[in-house]
Amino acid sequence: MGITFSGLENNNAYVEWCNSHPNGYVLNKRNKSTLHRATCKTVTRHGRIDSDTSQKHKVATSSYAKVCYETREEMLAELGAKDINRCGHCKP
Ligand SMILES: [Zn+2]
Repeated sequence: MGITFSGLENNNAYVEWCNSHPNGYVLNKRNKSTLHRATCKTVTRHGRIDSDTSQKHKVATSSYAKVCYETREEMLAELGAKDINRCGHCKP
């Protein structure tokens, strides 16, 4: 099972998780979720949802929850058969 971070109160824990799991994966939960590597700048820029948003002062976990997986095997076990987007920048 991945670890879910959501809400303002979990943002710092999410950022720390990404920093301490450089080989991990992050699922950005949306209508159609997008998978990233934990090192992808679009999900690790502190205080931002991603680099495509012009909205300032938002934190990573406020609008879209993040589900984090420590290993590729864990990620594939949960998401391998699901219809998700894969980030074009980090190519997870
Ligand atoms: Zn990415």
